Amino acid sequence: CGIVGYIGSRQAQDVLISGLSKLEYRGYDSAGVAIGDGACIAVKKKAGKLANLEAELGSAPLSGTLGIGHTRWATHGLPNDTNAHPHATEDGQIVIIHNGIIENYLKLKEALMSRGHEFKSETDSEVLAHLIEEAYSGDLYEAVRTALGQVRGAYGIVVTHVDHREIVAARTVSPLVMGVGEGEMFLASDVPALLAYTRKMVFLHDGDMVVLNDDGFRVTDLDGNEQTRAVEHIDWDA
Ligand code: GLU
Repeated sequence: CGIVGYIGSRQAQDVLISGLSKLEYRGYDSAGVAIGDGACIAVKKKAGKLANLEAELGSAPLSGTLGIGHTRWATHGLPNDTNAHPHATEDGQIVIIHNGIIENYLKLKEALMSRGHEFKSETDSEVLAHLIEEAYSGDLYEAVRTALGQVRGAYGIVVTHVDHREIVAARTVSPLVMGVGEGEMFLASDVPALLAYTRKMVFLHDGDMVVLNDDGFRVTDLDGNEQTRAVEHIDWDA
């Protein structure tokens, strides 16, 4: 339902919680964040209001300057802690968040299980983590691109890997907008999440993929062709 991503020099947890709180009006049933500190990616997720997640983080804040956060509106699988996003691979190296619905997830899940993948959640989204893991051989962007070639449906997806200081994202149908800062980059499913941090935004088109790092971004289509996207200035307030 709601997505926020951050890479820069601030503590990511603050940006994610503040951004997600601006998306609460959309409605949701669970919330979660994943924060990378270069050595590992820590995931915390909780059913219920963002306040539940905040209470948990309050006693043990996650430290790190790269992060992704989600408020979930369940479509596949009950609204509980396990089904909340982010979803990580078993080794914890790849972490994903997904908005939307993967229509062919059952077939993909069966095939992945027959190849030895173990699923933790009942969500359609978790297949994405496993598909990316299978396709990964050192290049996260290429792995996400290969995985997306196998799915049908609607998605806004954000992905991070412990070995890379970058966030890879893509959208089909579900919206995603990037916020451009000085030495920092943001990502969200909607503009209000980012207005406290930047007014320079890039609206991603249907079928766009993007790689964000501390210094900027690169957009391609799902076939890997470079795309040019204008930076727009938002002069309204949410
Ligand atoms: N289909 C996914 C799930 O049920 C994502 C839902 C959403 O867009 O929040 O977990």
